[in-house]
This record gives sequence, C-alpha cells and structure tokens, in this order.
Amino acid sequence: MRIFDPHIHMTSRTTDDYEAMHAAGVRAVVEPAFWLGQPRTSPESFYDYFDALLGWEPYRAAQFGIQHFCTIALNPKEANDPRCRPVLDELPRYLAKDRVVAVGEIGYDSMTPEEDEALALQLRLAIEHELPALVHTPHRDKVTGTRRTLDVVRESGIAPELVVLDHLNELTVGMVLDSGCWAGFSVYPRTKMSEDRMVTILQEHGAERMLVNSAADWGRSDPLKTRKTADAMLAAGFDDDTVDRVLWRNPVAFYGQSGRLDLDEPKPDEESSFQGNSVRRGGE
Ligand SMILES: [Zn+2]
Repeated sequence: MRIFDPHIHMTSRTTDDYEAMHAAGVRAVVEPAFWLGQPRTSPESFYDYFDALLGWEPYRAAQFGIQHFCTIALNPKEANDPRCRPVLDELPRYLAKDRVVAVGEIGYDSMTPEEDEALALQLRLAIEHELPALVHTPHRDKVTGTRRTLDVVRESGIAPELVVLDHLNELTVGMVLDSGCWAGFSVYPRTKMSEDRMVTILQEHGAERMLVNSAADWGRSDPLKTRKTADAMLAAGFDDDTVDRVLWRNPVAFYGQSGRLDLDEPKPDEESSFQGNSVRRGGE
C-alpha cells in the first residue's frame, strides 16, 4: 500500500516515526508551515523555520525513503501578532522554491480583522504564484468559521479546485464539497476525527476531492493515522483502488496542481549529509 500524508508536521517527530511511517507504506508527505506551540517574537525565526522545511527536513525524510514537500505561509494564529506580520512581505521569495507545493496553512483561528487581512492577502499570493492553498478551519465555532472561510475563498477569485479546507467534520464536509473545494480531514487519536467516523464520511460522500491526513505535530497525534484509516476502509469493504485513490492519487492530484510534485523515489544515502550534519550518530 502506498500512502501520501498531505498534512503532517515532521519537524516535531522523531526518526522512529519516519521508520514506522515508511514500514506502514508512507512514501510522500507535505509539511505545512504552522505555529510551534509558543509565539515567535520576530520574523527571522520564521525564515529559519521555512529554510528547515526546505532543507534539513527533506534531507531527513529522504534518509527514510520518504519524499518531503512543504507549504509556506504566515499561520492564522500568528497573523494576529504585529511582530510577525512582516513575514507576509517575504513570502513571495519562498513561494518561488521548488519543494513548495502550496500556500498554507492559512485560514482563521479566532476570526479577527487581522486574520481576515492575512487570509485574503495569502489567497492573492496563491493566485499570483499559481499555487494551491491549504486552508485550516477554526477549531472553535467550526460551522460558522467554515462558512465564512468559503465566502472569503469565493471572493478571492481563486479556482475552488486549487483550495483544500482542512480539519473538516460531519457538519462541514457537505458545504465544502458543494463549493468545489477539496475536503481535508485530520484523523486524531482523541479529537477532531477518528478513522471509523472517516470511513462513514467516505461512505456517505464518496472519494472524490477527499484528503485524509494525520496532521501529526507536537500535540497528542499519531503519524500512522493515514494507514489506520486505510485499514479501516478495507475492513469496511472499500476496495484497494478506492483506498489508493484517497490515500495516494487524491493528494498527488491536489498538490500536483503546483507543477512541482516530483515523486521519484528518494534514494536513502547513509553517507550523505546536509550542510555537514547527518541523521547518523557516532561511529555507527
Ligand atoms: Zn497543521
């Protein structure tokens, strides 16, 4: 089974996770830029983070046989912090890079005027750079937040097929599919979405424009939730082709719209290093 996790924060994960993901069938991931759990105090720390998403992390992933791509943006939460706003001016420099396959994560956190502005501006950047957009939906007041997000997406003029609204649930999936956007689901151990609920949603809404991710990060999360969802689909009677469509061909189709998804197998090279550093330890 081949799996593409379209939303996972590998910066927060260990080499054990990479090994287990590869054993489970994961061959490609997209890591969206997001917030790190505590506020950043200057734009420069974003640039180091973006550079790591484009340098060290793809190197690390390749050592475990996994292709790593990323999305770049000022995340919704930190869009509210005036110290971080200058990041918006530097984004075009990053959006030109080869492994950047979308603008994201953008969207709403608390639905403030600052978030409105950052969301509209970054959707404009996606249009200018001819990139897809990964749009996070707020955890609180999800239905209202999703409806408002869809309004802003519509007003921006971006083609709906270039947009995924993520972290959806039973209450928001219908309106997102009706809009022509892609529907993303983050399958978590305790909250948001479970693999069984995901199976029911797929039974009710079909596999078209559906993306399943683990959204694993520094919080309670599980980087194998993509595989566990695939197994739950098979147990519920879905065929191999539909599982492959949801867990591989859909994310390839969505991010492939960037024109930058080069899926040649990475060749793990124990001898290689990244700027003098490697994942090896000592004299192994
Ligand atoms: Zn995320």
